[in-house]
Amino acid sequence: MRVKVALWSPEELELDHLPLLEDEKTGVWFQVTDIKQYLYCPRLVYFAYVQPLPVHKPAKVEEGQVSHEELKSRLLRHWPRALPRGQEVLLDVPLVYAPWRLTGRVDALILRDDDTAVVVDFKHARTVRPGWKMQVVAYGMLVEQVLGYNVPEGYIYLTRIRKAQKVVLRPSLRRRVMAIQEAMRAMLEQDRWPEGPSGRGPCVACEYRRFCNDRF
Ligand code: SF4
Repeated sequence: MRVKVALWSPEELELDHLPLLEDEKTGVWFQVTDIKQYLYCPRLVYFAYVQPLPVHKPAKVEEGQVSHEELKSRLLRHWPRALPRGQEVLLDVPLVYAPWRLTGRVDALILRDDDTAVVVDFKHARTVRPGWKMQVVAYGMLVEQVLGYNVPEGYIYLTRIRKAQKVVLRPSLRRRVMAIQEAMRAMLEQDRWPEGPSGRGPCVACEYRRFCNDRF
């Protein structure tokens, strides 16, 4: 099985660099990672789009980016046993779908010989966190729209324990992805300050903590 990196530059997913029609430049464009962020706390999306604030990336985010590069070079040499195989695997595939105003970069796309594909999101973690599953579903839906493959399933691969969790792209999860996008769009278009998560747990390590003075 051949594993290769998709050829693209990070700027390709910046709106200014996308070959968009005039009417496609209207409205709010989201990234798939916004869906994960929204599920962690809707305020993270509000801050990112309405009120960008000077926050420092936590060290673990920086580390995560470094390890992503290391992981990529490892994957080019050795494909994990816990993941399915196909005819070919593409790493770091950029996806842009104007009707949904949604972009993303899927970590790995396994192409099979029956016109189906499997998306994989790599996480430098030991356990799956809320929101990651919906991220995988959104990547799969984008691949279907942009590249035309049928994507029945995806995987979250936990690099720290070398295990994979399968995510079946059920209709209910697909509907949820669309509903989350609508909710994010409504929040921004109405400039509505959202509630935080129900518990305080997510706030403890949040870089926006000092801007949410109703949480502690
Ligand atoms: S501190 Fe809590 S409420 Fe505020 S953005 Fe972070 S997670 Fe959300």
